[in-house]
Amino acid sequence: MPRTGEIDVSDVSDASDTIDAIDALLPQTQCGQCGYAGCRPYARALAAGAAHINRCPPGGDDVINDLARLLNVAVKPLDTSCGMPKPPALAFIDEAWCIGCTLCIQACPVDAIAGAAKLMHTVIAAECTGCELCIAPCPVDCIQMVADERAQDREARLARANHWRARHQARQSRLGVAGAPPATPPAQAPTATGPKQAAIARALARAQARITKKQKSQ
Ligand code: SF4
Ligand code: SF4
Ligand code: SF4
Repeated sequence: MPRTGEIDVSDVSDASDTIDAIDALLPQTQCGQCGYAGCRPYARALAAGAAHINRCPPGGDDVINDLARLLNVAVKPLDTSCGMPKPPALAFIDEAWCIGCTLCIQACPVDAIAGAAKLMHTVIAAECTGCELCIAPCPVDCIQMVADERAQDREARLARANHWRARHQARQSRLGVAGAPPATPPAQAPTATGPKQAAIARALARAQARITKKQKSQ
């Protein structure tokens, strides 16, 4: 008998093997749209029978079909309350407007952004999962998503997912937060508080002055 919903895990003998098998099918963007703090936590919930298989917008129908096969459950349509599937995209930072606040770096679950405090930042395109978690925290809206021209066949996507999983795990280890949320889902993006907020406000004022000066010279 399934433990919850339609997920039957009654023949699961080794939970970690099952979690690994599920995790291997997930896109590894760590975007949090499934409602869990990344792909592995979602895999854990699936293995425990506590989640449905249709909560991963980046994975879309391919992941739903893969999970249905693995867990021997019925295919069901994507739960669009988690988000809609989108064409593959990468983040791009307009460096002319970047104020070097580092908020995007803190939000990126796979360390795909290079930069330092008060210096311009840039996305390492080859490492970007397209999770969009860096967009909301940027106080000057200088990050946008652009088309991802990388190969999108299954083999290429799985290879990238394996790479992103390793990068995410390395980040978690470095930060000493194994099992902790990789980042906050887009709807709840982190905001700066206290001294950091004040620093950002000052940086924003400088950026605004720069914009005004530029507009006057045009
Ligand atoms: S790609 Fe995003 S929605 Fe899909 S399992 Fe990973 S964190 Fe969840
Ligand atoms: S750069 Fe932005 S979109 Fe790309 S992986 Fe990092 S947080 Fe996600
Ligand atoms: S959040 Fe925006 S302004 Fe801040 S470092 Fe990143 S790109 Fe630059």
